[in-house]
Amino acid sequence: MTTAEIKAMATEYIINTYGDRNLAFVKGEGPYLWDADGKKYLDFLGGLAVNGLGHCHPKVVEAIREQAGNLLHTSNLYYIQPQAELAKLLIDNSDMDQCFFCNSGAEANEAAIKLARKYAKDVDMRSLRLDIFEDDGTDPYEIITMDNSFHGRTMATITATAQTKYHVGFEPMLEGFAYVPFDDLEATEAAINSKTCAILVEPIQSEGGVNMPSDGYLQGLRELCDKYNLLLIFDEVQTAMGRLGTFFGYQSYGVVPDVITMAKALGSGVPIGAMLAKRKIAESFVPGTHAATFGGNPLVTAAAATTVRTILEENLAVNAVKMGNYLAGGLMELKDKYPVKEVRGKGLLRGLVMDVDAKPLAAQCIENGLVTICTNDYVLRFLPPLNINAGHVEEAVGIVEKSMSEVL
Ligand SMILES: *Cc1c(COP(=O)(O)O)cnc(C)c1O
Repeated sequence: MTTAEIKAMATEYIINTYGDRNLAFVKGEGPYLWDADGKKYLDFLGGLAVNGLGHCHPKVVEAIREQAGNLLHTSNLYYIQPQAELAKLLIDNSDMDQCFFCNSGAEANEAAIKLARKYAKDVDMRSLRLDIFEDDGTDPYEIITMDNSFHGRTMATITATAQTKYHVGFEPMLEGFAYVPFDDLEATEAAINSKTCAILVEPIQSEGGVNMPSDGYLQGLRELCDKYNLLLIFDEVQTAMGRLGTFFGYQSYGVVPDVITMAKALGSGVPIGAMLAKRKIAESFVPGTHAATFGGNPLVTAAAATTVRTILEENLAVNAVKMGNYLAGGLMELKDKYPVKEVRGKGLLRGLVMDVDAKPLAAQCIENGLVTICTNDYVLRFLPPLNINAGHVEEAVGIVEKSMSEVL
C-alpha cells in the first residue's frame, strides 16, 4: 500500500485521537526508517523513547522469534521464566527489591498510585505523623504531582498529570491529587498536609518540554519525603533504560526513590511496563490486590530481558552521554546563525529550545528526512536510539541546520 492508501483506510476506520498525519513507516533498521513510499529517514524520535536499541535490533528480533515459537502467553496463574529473569535483571541494577509487570507507562503509574494508597493504610502512615499533623481521622491518600508533568491517559494518570489540556471534557477528576510547580521545593512543602501519602515526579519532564531539575531539587524531595514520612515515586517511564547516562535516571542524581515506574524502552517496542519498589512497600501488594492479564507475559519479558542485557553489555548508557553531549554541542553551534534559545536535557533526552514557534521547523526536518517532534510549541525534542554513532549525530545536526536555513 502507498502512504495515501494507508492514510485513507486509517482515516475511515480508526477513531481520530492522533489527528491528521502524512507518514506511515513500513520498515526500520538501526536508527533508520523507511516510509510506505520508499523514502528513508533518520529516526531521532525513537518511537517516543521506545526504540532505545534502534529498530529491529538483531538480538531482540531473535529473542522474540525464539519465544514466539515456544510460548506466547500463559497468564500469571503460572510462573513465567523470562518474567523472573527480567525481574532479577531490573532489581540487580537498581536499589529496589521487587517488581510488578504491566503493559504500559500509564498502567505502571496506576500500580504505583494504588500501592501508595494501600501502603499508607498498611503502615498506618497517619499515626506515624501525629507529632507533625493533627489527626483528622482519615488515612493519607493524596499524591503531590508537578505542573507540566505527564503520567499517562487513564483516569487516574490524567489526574496525576497536572496539565488542564488533558482534563478538559473528562471531569470530574479522581480525588486525591495536589499540584505544585516543578522544581519548587517550597511550594511542595507548603502543599504537604495530613492527607499526603506520596510525591510523584519525573526526574526530567520530557513531554512537558524537557524541563530540568535544579541541583538539589530531587534530593530536596527525598528529604521532604523522609521528614513527613511520604513515599517518593519516580516516573522513569522515559528516563530509565540508560537514556540519561545511567541505567535508571535516578542514578544520575544520586537520589534513591521508594518506587519507580518504567515502560517505553523496556521492551524495545513490545508493550510492557513495570513498577519497582522497596520490599517494605512492595509488601502492600498481596494476592488479589493487583493484576494484569498480559502483564509480563513470556513474549514481552523475553524481549525486555534481551533489551536490558544488551544495554548493559554494550555499555549504551555511556554512549548515551557521549552522543548526547556531541548532539547538544552541535545544536548549540546553530545559535550563532538562528533563533536558538538553549539546548536542554541530559544524555540522549534533549530539547532544542527555539525563540520562535518550532512546529514549522519540525515539519521541515521530516521533509528533509529527520524524524523529530515539536513539544510545547518552542521545543524540538530528540530521543534517538542509544546506540547511534557520531556520524548519525552529524547527519541529524546537518538536517536541522538545512531545515532552519529553509524555514527561518
Ligand atoms: C509516555 C509516558 C507515560 C505514559 O506511558 P504510556 O505507555 O503511554 O501509558 C507516563 N509517564 C511518562 C514520563 C511518559 O513519558
